[in-house]
Amino acid sequence: MAETKKTHVAVLPTPGMGHLIPLVELAKRLVRLHNISVTFIIPTNGPPSKAQKSVFDSLPASIDSVFLPPVNLGDVSEDTKIETLISLTIVHSLPLLRDVLKSLAEKTRLVSLVVDLFGTDVFDVAREFNISPYIFFPSTAMALSLFLYLPKLDETVPVEYRDLTEPVKIPGCIPIHGKELLDPVQDRKNEAYKWVLHHTKRYRLAGGIMVNSFKELEAGAIKALQEKEPGKTPVYPVGPLVNVDPSTKADAAECLTWLDGQPHGSVLYVSFGSGGTLSSEQVDELALGLEMSEQRFLWVVRSPNDKVASATYFSVNSRMDPFDFLPKGFLERTKGRGLVVSSWAPQAQVLSHGSTGGFLTHCGWNSTLESVVNGVPVIVWPLYAEQKMNAVMLTEDIKVALRPKANENGVVGREEIARVVKGLMEGEEGKKVRYRMKDLKEAAAKVLSHDGSSTKALADVVHKWQNC
Ligand code: UDP
Repeated sequence: MAETKKTHVAVLPTPGMGHLIPLVELAKRLVRLHNISVTFIIPTNGPPSKAQKSVFDSLPASIDSVFLPPVNLGDVSEDTKIETLISLTIVHSLPLLRDVLKSLAEKTRLVSLVVDLFGTDVFDVAREFNISPYIFFPSTAMALSLFLYLPKLDETVPVEYRDLTEPVKIPGCIPIHGKELLDPVQDRKNEAYKWVLHHTKRYRLAGGIMVNSFKELEAGAIKALQEKEPGKTPVYPVGPLVNVDPSTKADAAECLTWLDGQPHGSVLYVSFGSGGTLSSEQVDELALGLEMSEQRFLWVVRSPNDKVASATYFSVNSRMDPFDFLPKGFLERTKGRGLVVSSWAPQAQVLSHGSTGGFLTHCGWNSTLESVVNGVPVIVWPLYAEQKMNAVMLTEDIKVALRPKANENGVVGREEIARVVKGLMEGEEGKKVRYRMKDLKEAAAKVLSHDGSSTKALADVVHKWQNC
């Protein structure tokens, strides 16, 4: 008798941790709720990072992973943007991907290939195996709405978006100034813009798009995305899918033990995601601002980088000892009240810890969702990618965040930092955003419950796959 093959889904994340984490959570839900097995196929342009490896090492047997051999991107210049690097890595990996898919298709009942936001070049390879490609959009419904609207904006706007005097009206979203739109659309002559436009034009070729958000968080954008129109790709809000890693690794223990000893809700967690770096001047101001605020803090610090704000996006770890760049005497003066850790903290555990009462974040969408599911209000400090859009949405639309103002040189000064940190942790403005965040925390738990809207949306996707 022929053996019935298990339903299988291949997932192709783009390099970098930010996109990997929610995709891993998606895979876990597919396994747990739908008995589907998953293989991650990871394109690389260098050796996998320690953080990436530890994510895959912790997964159950029904989630497999294959790192594709690193591709050689040739002579790309040093200032090549992330979106270009990611897209090129994927294009160069297509022959390698085809081999892995071939073997999976022979061994399993392969029903879909899920790619993340810059992975549309693999669509054609998926079709060769008669499988329907789906997009997992790891960011906001607002950013997705912009992506789907971008081909039209590109046709109708003759200037740089940042030079527009009127705000851009992304369907279903709060109007936003062109200079706050995501990084790669800030320079239309740059390759990164061309890549993003290329991908957004291909979005309609996907079988469906899953977005890491939910209605209570982004009602307007989701409504606009789901309005029925001929030829429109169906959109499924399946979020919030966040990092809930409960394991305590040895190097994580120090900061969790330290948090155990702090009063309830008293600590501001400060982190700029997996890739965020600040200039030397900004590192100084932040340190001195935290000191002036007289609040407790846990700061994940990286060596400064005066050129790019996403210097460690692929590698996570700083190349030099970040402690060497802190102001003289800072560590001694804040000892006990503040803890500084180098490069990486167990963020999921930090945010769910009772002592954590606020989060100064670069507004990466995972970090934002992790704050939402734990009901922790935020201070927004956007650096790159779509983070400025997220900051606008969080402060002006959803109103769960405070935003410090930069001076005329683009640096946020120590007094301003101290003012906003105090405001969040002790002030009236902090209370308001805290209450609102608690409501969202409850809504997030509900949408992921047995009959919640995100659980149902994922079931709809699986139903389509099973019947394809
Ligand atoms: N993260 C972590 N420890 C750190 C920094 C980041 O665990 O010290 C995790 C964080 O929990 C989140 C992800 O890395 O899940 C960062 O994703 P996000 O979208 O916030 O930002 P990105 O790194 O993509 O800019």
